[in-house]
Amino acid sequence: MAPLTELSPAGTRHVFGEAPGRVNLIGEHTDYNGGYVLPVAIPQRTRVTLAPRTDCTVYVESAQYPDASPLEYRLGNERRSGGWGDYVQGMTWALTSHGLLRGFEARVESTVPVGSGLSSSAALEIAFGRAIRAAFGLPLGDVALARAAQLAENEFVGAPVGILDQMACSLADTSSALFLDTRTLEYARVPLPPSVGLIVVDSGISHRHAGGEYAVRRRECAEAAARLGVPELRDIGPEQLHRVAELPPPLDRRARHVVTENQRVLDTVDALRRGDAVTAGRLFVASHQSMCEDFEITVPAIDLLTELASRVQGTYGARLTGGGFGGSVVVLAEQGRVAAASTEILDQYRLQTGNPGRVLVPER
Ligand code: ADP
Ligand code: MG
Repeated sequence: MAPLTELSPAGTRHVFGEAPGRVNLIGEHTDYNGGYVLPVAIPQRTRVTLAPRTDCTVYVESAQYPDASPLEYRLGNERRSGGWGDYVQGMTWALTSHGLLRGFEARVESTVPVGSGLSSSAALEIAFGRAIRAAFGLPLGDVALARAAQLAENEFVGAPVGILDQMACSLADTSSALFLDTRTLEYARVPLPPSVGLIVVDSGISHRHAGGEYAVRRRECAEAAARLGVPELRDIGPEQLHRVAELPPPLDRRARHVVTENQRVLDTVDALRRGDAVTAGRLFVASHQSMCEDFEITVPAIDLLTELASRVQGTYGARLTGGGFGGSVVVLAEQGRVAAASTEILDQYRLQTGNPGRVLVPER
């Protein structure tokens, strides 16, 4: 790829925008129900190097896709093409109303794995948003940036995602979990106890074709809320589970997952604040079971990974993280056991499935 200096006029100021990937500790499929989530940033990051132009042209290259021709378009002329450029065009489309009036040349580099449930798409959006904000002095806070990124992904890319990923990539850091109320966007940072470490293992099963199932779950949740007479399932507390049980299947199970998962987020936050990793680990296990039996978004390889993780010495609990139908599991472990336990889990997984899988956290 050509260095940016060759693409842009001599003397142009370059700016950088960075954003991490994220792993959601607990609170799955709660974000589009107005509920709670608890993501943490991972060490892998996406970095955008950007040089402003004086005209309205945008050129972008991504090191992730070296063989693809560079993205080139004029601001105001964004067109969806189905490729990675849609995320960039979505961001410029969304930021025009925040004062983006000129084009730029940019290069993307990233260590966030694509399509493993670690939100490479939101990392890309937020890294771009930050670079554009810095280059053109847009008056935009981190929450507004997350909202713009969600708008880009929903309305331009066409992925009906909640705001979990964008808020996490915009606001989370690697040492504390971001306890987020997705309805109000209020958030608090919950430091991870120093004795606790995270492992993320990719099953190698891509979640990419799960868009249809995701849409079905969203519809089911909306229908369950309507039948229960509330705007969102967030409005149903655990004390109302008897009403949830009267819904026709599978709406009863879908709603039960969301209602109990919201409570598990609150309980996990309490446990982490007390430094109680054992309770947090149990909540991980209960969450996985709920995703397996009630929400039905796990696959056998993911169930196996969580089982293997729970058998390894020095782990507290494991669960599917991300939208499901593949992707990764997150494991709560003793800090001193993170490296060894992640290797043991992966070795066992390879042995039993023949699938290579991959340890994503700790970064290797
Ligand atoms: P996830 O966000 O879980 O990794 P998605 O399917 O939501 O999976 O987003 C992946 C898509 O985001 C990729 O197919 C690609 O279009 C885009 N993307 C992510 N990272 C990059 C990157 N560094 N460069 C270009 N496109 C990227
Ligand atoms: Mg994504």
